[in-house]
Amino acid sequence: MARYTGPKCRLCRREGVKLYLKGSRCESDKCAIAKKAQAPGQHGTRRKSVSEYGKQLREKQKAKRIYGILEKQFKNYVNKALSSKGVSGEILMQLLESRLDNMVYRSGFAVSRAQARQFIRRGLFNVNDREVNIPSRTLKIGDVIKPISFEKIHLREGIVLPEWLEANIKERYVKYSRLPMPEDTQEKVDVQAIIEFYSR
Ligand code: SF4
Repeated sequence: MARYTGPKCRLCRREGVKLYLKGSRCESDKCAIAKKAQAPGQHGTRRKSVSEYGKQLREKQKAKRIYGILEKQFKNYVNKALSSKGVSGEILMQLLESRLDNMVYRSGFAVSRAQARQFIRRGLFNVNDREVNIPSRTLKIGDVIKPISFEKIHLREGIVLPEWLEANIKERYVKYSRLPMPEDTQEKVDVQAIIEFYSR
């Protein structure tokens, strides 16, 4: 699966917000956004008025970068959201949050979604007691993710489990207990603007 391999902090600087792509560094004073929030490049400091289209485009780029998804796959999620019953923006957010790599990250088993993808590809996680090595796999309510061992997996420091996930401390697994709602998501992405961008 193709993926972006360029400098990650540059992506945050382009969006002007922390996208949390580099694990613990993102919380430290080494974070490029904390040091200097201007967009990359020679004209990064210029203030421009942004059109509605421009704002929608930026929201789309921001979401793709947060979840580590390239255009083709992202568009598939949008099309699926548009063809489903319900509020398309909410469904899009739920599809993105239901990816296995995101769940592993949200559960605190990885410092970033990129690290979660590496772990999953190396076969370090079971879903419902079966090895799954596809980071983009969509999980369903009731699915259970569990590291195959805690030798290589350590819980992320300061992790706060989202309310839509349920941890079983004794059995050391995390269960997808309900669909996330807009008020549950930590990332400030305007999903409705993304839907409007693709509905033009
Ligand atoms: Fe973004 Fe800061 Fe993390 Fe770099 S360190 S990826 S700028 S949040």
